[in-house]
Amino acid sequence: MLIADLHSHSRASDGLLSPAEVAQRAVANGVDILALTDHDDLGGLGAARAVADSSGMRFINGVEISIEWGGLQVHIVGLDFDPLNGELNEGLASIRQGRVSRAQRMSAELEKIGIARCFEGAMRYAENPNLISRSHFARYFVEIGICKDVRSVFESYLVPGKPGYVTHRWASLDQAVRWIVAAGGIAAVAHPGRYKFSRQEMRNFLDEFKGCGGKAIEVVSGSHSQDNVNQFSRLAREYGFLASCGSDFHGPEESYIDLGGIASLPDDLAPVWTAFR
Ligand code: AMP
Ligand code: MN
Ligand code: MN
Ligand code: MN
Repeated sequence: MLIADLHSHSRASDGLLSPAEVAQRAVANGVDILALTDHDDLGGLGAARAVADSSGMRFINGVEISIEWGGLQVHIVGLDFDPLNGELNEGLASIRQGRVSRAQRMSAELEKIGIARCFEGAMRYAENPNLISRSHFARYFVEIGICKDVRSVFESYLVPGKPGYVTHRWASLDQAVRWIVAAGGIAAVAHPGRYKFSRQEMRNFLDEFKGCGGKAIEVVSGSHSQDNVNQFSRLAREYGFLASCGSDFHGPEESYIDLGGIASLPDDLAPVWTAFR
């Protein structure tokens, strides 16, 4: 049985391991095809690929692009693209630019409830300062003892309606898909089970995604329940989407599901890797 893990993170964004360590861990876990999909940044791909090449593991270039759709933050995964493509790189640079100012606004909001100098604290956790993320704030909050773990920090401080959440303009769905396709890649909806969409909103979203050139959907994900897997298998069949799967591994201490530790895709779906070059 082929083990594919097409969604993972390194310290190039908000993961805890270096890109090389992610690839080494995937090799040790018996992964056959790995994609590193850091948020909005391609900086880890070279080092991860070097490890994969020397170990005989197949490596796929990946990225997870932050977009806004219907007022919610949604993620689109890009797979198997040319990492030197100008349009993709310029697009990602434009999203990264907004992250620092967003982090400063988050910090200002948190200051109002008496938690000072969060920006500086979070920055210490961001190896890639252009990729400052809510995850880095969460780790800092755990360090200073505000919450016991990252999950509780999100629940109490970093999601819509909580004091450290600020709205932000990410890319549009159309832009993200266009950048991926321009670079010769395949666009996939990341962990669709995580979005708080009604049935109709999900359909509207998938219609629009397909209309823009989106080809795939994550059916099996580290954040999907069995119900989610069933639901998105049905939608993959109905829309004719390729099926993707990935752990969304961020690090041994923060992820329940390890690299390669996800269930296999339902037999009748077309796996996204059948379309890789
Ligand atoms: P950002 O891109 O800065 O908005 O941060 C989003 C990242 O935060 C996601 O990629 C996850 O790694 C993490 N995240 C989002 N929601 C949660 C949650 N409820 N618990 C733990 N981590 C989360
Ligand atoms: Mn993340
Ligand atoms: Mn995501
Ligand atoms: Mn992810």
